[in-house]
Amino acid sequence: MRNIYTTLLLIFAVAIFICSCVIGRRDKRPLTKAIRYIMIAAPCTMAIYAAALIVRTQFWAELMYAVYYTVSDVLLICMLLYALKYTNVYEMRAVQKAALYSVVAVDGLLMLLNVFTEKVFIFHCGPVEDAGTFFYGIAERGGLYNFHRLIIYGMVVLIVLPLVIKIVKSPTMYREKFWLTLLSLMIIIAANVLYLVMSLEIDFSVLTYGIMALAIYYFNVIYVPQGLVEGLLSSSIKNMDDSVVCFDIEGNCVYANSVAYGFFKAESTEPFEDYYREWMNGRQLSEAEDSEWKETREVNSAKRYYDVSFKRLCDSSNNYVGCFFKMHDETDEVEKLATERFRATHDRLTGIYNREHFYDVVRDVVRKADPGAYCMVCSDIKNFKLVNDIFGINVGDEVLLNIADALKRLARPGSVYGRLSGDRFAICMPKERFDPDVFSNEIRRIGEKSGTATYRICVHLGVYDIVDRDIAVSVMCDRAYMAIKTIKASLADVIAHYDEGIRESSVSEQKVSGEFGTALEEGQFCFYLQPQVSVRGKILGGEALVRWIHPERGMIPPGEFIGILENTGLICKLDTYIWELACKKLREWKDKGLTDYHISVNISPKDFYFADIYKVFTGLAEKYEIKPQNLRLEITESAIMSDFEKQLVLIQRLQEYGFMVEMDDFGSGYSSLNMLKDMPVDTLKVDMGFLRQTSHEERSRTILKMIISLSKQLGMEVVTEGVETREQVDFLTEIGCDTFQGYYFAKPMPVSEFEQKYFER
Ligand code: C2E
Ligand code: CA
Ligand code: CA
Repeated sequence: MRNIYTTLLLIFAVAIFICSCVIGRRDKRPLTKAIRYIMIAAPCTMAIYAAALIVRTQFWAELMYAVYYTVSDVLLICMLLYALKYTNVYEMRAVQKAALYSVVAVDGLLMLLNVFTEKVFIFHCGPVEDAGTFFYGIAERGGLYNFHRLIIYGMVVLIVLPLVIKIVKSPTMYREKFWLTLLSLMIIIAANVLYLVMSLEIDFSVLTYGIMALAIYYFNVIYVPQGLVEGLLSSSIKNMDDSVVCFDIEGNCVYANSVAYGFFKAESTEPFEDYYREWMNGRQLSEAEDSEWKETREVNSAKRYYDVSFKRLCDSSNNYVGCFFKMHDETDEVEKLATERFRATHDRLTGIYNREHFYDVVRDVVRKADPGAYCMVCSDIKNFKLVNDIFGINVGDEVLLNIADALKRLARPGSVYGRLSGDRFAICMPKERFDPDVFSNEIRRIGEKSGTATYRICVHLGVYDIVDRDIAVSVMCDRAYMAIKTIKASLADVIAHYDEGIRESSVSEQKVSGEFGTALEEGQFCFYLQPQVSVRGKILGGEALVRWIHPERGMIPPGEFIGILENTGLICKLDTYIWELACKKLREWKDKGLTDYHISVNISPKDFYFADIYKVFTGLAEKYEIKPQNLRLEITESAIMSDFEKQLVLIQRLQEYGFMVEMDDFGSGYSSLNMLKDMPVDTLKVDMGFLRQTSHEERSRTILKMIISLSKQLGMEVVTEGVETREQVDFLTEIGCDTFQGYYFAKPMPVSEFEQKYFER
């Protein structure tokens, strides 16, 4: 009997030990670690008990029993630690652990000491007869041995308690795991009680340690209660946001979650089954295929979008056992996507297409159409920045909204419109549907609606006929904007069409501003002089007129580049350059004793913005030590009118320094006679050109007569330019003109020619 039992114990111990090694390597979870300690402690306990039964001397038997009791203490500690970790009911603090370990250590020490002294407590082994041989069994217990018992019972209670608490408190589907673990513990206790009550010589309960260790391992690591899986699965489907409806092979609805009931507005399974039948359309389950599709449904009078999938279910032998539908409500995703798409393609303020999207759509539309079938109409608000500055952003926004509204009204079938940037809008439409009158009227309406009594909003339109479909849409818009630039300040014209001339001028504009820097550096600019002659034919001086001597294109007249340089602000550089050349020339003349001749230089209205006119001219006069009276400054009416008060002061200061100030092109601009009395210029330059152009020559002559006599009375000199005929000279002399400049006397000529002609005679 003893032999069979010890063999069984040893084999079992080795088997469990191997098991513990294997799981330790695979599974590193803390709980498994705790279980592993049990799986090490349990076989040790078993092996040592087996050894106690095998040994043949009393000393060794007592020693083995003592070790056995100590190791079983350790096993209980392992089980306690496991139970605490497993249940999470209570966590031992370090002090408690230390106390427990100390008590167990004392117990173990007393046991071992007893072997040598036999005095610590009554614990005695004696030989037991067993099938002809004998082994040592426990002969006597008592006294301090109860200390050991106390420890054991205490620990058992501590182990059982958290398990019981867990069983009471856990959801039903989890209870199973806890009570199975508790059951295996109970088996050990029962076996132990049996051993004690029946006073057996061999403790058969030791074998149950191994059974318990394996049971704990199995119930914790391998075994998952069936109810738990089912419970978890069904509650996850129940709580899903999607509708799930399951059918058996007969097409009976076996399950539908609450979302599905809502989706089908169902009160019984009937609607589900109707849906299923309709979907199957007479097919068998094996004939239908797993599939996915989109469905739209009206729910509470709002459109909702669903992503539906149908799947068949198979058992382990691949036979169809049923199927299910899953409906995912993707309305939120769909709507979010739609808003995002709208945001990415539409302008925030006006809600119409933004630039990128407008370009994309126009590109597609135009590509499919015939060349020239479409036109691009772009709008620009004059001085929109000013509107924002004066009236505030809100008014500015309102103007923009008005324009967007107007575009909506103007759009015809096939039109695409959008906001390109700030105050720029564009509409691309079939050319035959574009009616300039309708557009002009709409624009005027915006002006009336958005303006105030003192400020009228003015919108200009540029039109480009899309003959070239392959150019970028942005270039089409650029061309429309180039056309807008040609609109003059008049209120009458609000629409301009792009033509090749505009393109050419824009190209030459770019060429001029591109080449200007090098040209100035390389000295390609010079001035010609056009003589100014007195009534008696005496030469008084000349007007400096710039010429660009281009290395390839030859001499370029100022008309071809002055305007461009004025637009780009480069004119200031050119003018200061020419002024310096003129002063240099005057100095040369002075050195030759020619001090009676003057040079008139032109000052562009833009120069007043970019240069300190007073400083530049006085600086030049001082640098070249010339008489300021010999430098005449031609200022245009428009420059003076731009800031009357300021220019008045400037002119007076220049005159005080000694310069002669002339008003150029009088009669071509504002020409207020009233202004003459306030503007103390020295000379008035009247252009014959403006007389030639009018049909009422008689009346023009009368006006000229008036101007001359008025300026005489105000003490001003009068220079008439553009004089081409003898008859004009006679007439002008008659009405009191002092000085003449014109082709009749001489055309502008290179300075050397001028000097040769007038000074070397
Ligand atoms: P402007 O200041 O009115 O110069 C007179 C223009 O009339 C000159 O043209 C001259 O050649 C032309 N002219 C003179 N006599 C007659 C005539 O009898 N009949 C006709 N039909 N024309 C005559 P130009 O040299 O082509 O200069 C054109 C304009 O360019 C000038 O008009 C002036 O506004 C501008 N300009 C010329 N040089 C400069 C300069 O250095 N700086 C600036 N800012 N502008 C300049
Ligand atoms: Ca001039
Ligand atoms: Ca002039």
